[in-house]
Amino acid sequence: MAKQKKTLTTGFGMPVDNDLNSSTAGPKGPVLVQDVHLIEKLAHFDRERIPERVVHAKGAGAHGYFEVTNDVSAYTRAKFLSKVGKKTDVFVRFSTVGGEKGSADSERDPRGFAIKFYTEEGNYDMVGNNTPVFFIRDPLKFPDFIHTQKRNPATNLKDPDMFWDFLSLTPESIHQVTILFSNRGTPKDYRHMNGYSSHTYMWYNAKGEYFWVQLHFKTEQGIQNFTGEEADRMRGVDPDCATRDLHEAIARGEFPSWKLEVQIMTPEQAKNYRFDPFDITKVWPHADFPPITVGRMVLNRNPENYFAEVEQAAFSPGNFVPGIGPSPDKMLQGRLFSYHDTHRHRLGTNYHLLPINAPKACPMNSYQRDGAMRPDNNGGDGPNYWPNTFGGAEPDPKLAPPPIDVSGMAARHAYQLGDVDFVQAGDLYRKVMSPTERKHLVKNIVSHLKNAQKRLQFRQTAIFYKADSDYGQRVAEGLGIDLQQVKKLAAMSQEDRVKATLK
Ligand code: NDP
Repeated sequence: MAKQKKTLTTGFGMPVDNDLNSSTAGPKGPVLVQDVHLIEKLAHFDRERIPERVVHAKGAGAHGYFEVTNDVSAYTRAKFLSKVGKKTDVFVRFSTVGGEKGSADSERDPRGFAIKFYTEEGNYDMVGNNTPVFFIRDPLKFPDFIHTQKRNPATNLKDPDMFWDFLSLTPESIHQVTILFSNRGTPKDYRHMNGYSSHTYMWYNAKGEYFWVQLHFKTEQGIQNFTGEEADRMRGVDPDCATRDLHEAIARGEFPSWKLEVQIMTPEQAKNYRFDPFDITKVWPHADFPPITVGRMVLNRNPENYFAEVEQAAFSPGNFVPGIGPSPDKMLQGRLFSYHDTHRHRLGTNYHLLPINAPKACPMNSYQRDGAMRPDNNGGDGPNYWPNTFGGAEPDPKLAPPPIDVSGMAARHAYQLGDVDFVQAGDLYRKVMSPTERKHLVKNIVSHLKNAQKRLQFRQTAIFYKADSDYGQRVAEGLGIDLQQVKKLAAMSQEDRVKATLK
């Protein structure tokens, strides 16, 4: 809080003489409409709320920096990654996904992990999650998926039937469902979790060679999760536990940090890989694509004002810099559209000019003009069209990304569900999780799935069984449903499984 004495003013700067008593006709009123200070104060208050984000509404953020610790210039020409020791300012927003703005931080949910790098070539956003995969791999399914994670349209309650009906009709979700219902679905706070690009992106170097990459931000605090019971309890004890933890840790000078690693796949490897490397329901196994260290991110400054810096922060996977580009990942392609679109709705068409979103380390020289709430000089007296011969900003052809070969028949191509879609969830259960983690996973699933209709319990448990027979068996036992029936359903095609569980 500033200590210097200041005079209160209206929004337009007129000094205010009294901010406790409305102007009235006599001491008992009525109130006079000529009290413009009162009218302005009420009218602004009436408009304080902006739409909350349709997903990731509850979040916390912090400022910091990213420092390069390893030379990756052979893979990308991005200047902020160009040499060891180079530092770039960042702003990070962590969030839950499904809950409303006032919902509890300890809800079982993926966590958003969005980073804005203020680079000298424009702002680069890495808009990821704390999970390396996602539930679906086609953006056409996204609005439906999110509806099932939110509230029933009739009761306005969270609905286990909607939740499990959709997931069991969408078996490609099994990998992410397994992570979500492990204790990684209830991270203790935002400092003790990893962040992943989840999508594959393109990196290209100064020679025009390109590579497919996946980014992993590994917490240097170590992974810490709540058990299901601890997370449930924390919802009541401190619904803002992760927000509070981040703020208090930074205020104490305990600055959280993450190591950035990248997995790299050449275009040739991508062509011949045993599954689609752009399918976001899958990870690239570390043994095939060993992670390479890139740098380190440190968060060392709390926002001064939550609304200005965190609520108005707007990230987009479409914010690239030269050296980084999109991959054909269908989900990513949908997000390239949707993020800017939702921010235009939420914040207005000039949201990129808000201080938290505007480039800090380079000029902004676009020909976009006008629009509601244009706070800068709108390009001044410079030309507002291209091409021009009046000294306006020019495109730089040297920065063109390498061309990539794209061809095929235009159609609504379906992913064919195959055994490969169950392998990684099974591997996670069998090879990565400890016996205790498996026990917690099954317990967490049972405590949620038991609230859905029996037929949905069968359909979903058959999918767990397809990932791993022990996994399916233990969920069936926990639910007290017939294992033989689960096995029969697991042996069927998805189409037949759905038909067999319609009632
Ligand atoms: P590895 O044994 O090389 O890697 C396993 C990785 O799993 C670990 O490095 C760790 O990654 C992550 N992990 C550890 N415990 C858990 C847990 N309880 N829940 C979720 N993830 C955990 O094997 P692979 O690379 O072949 O992957 C095997 C499985 O591991 C995958 O099917 C996937 O489910 C999971 N996994 C793989 C990742 C990858 O990029 N290859 C990333 C994350 C998970 P981290 O330190 O990044 O958390």
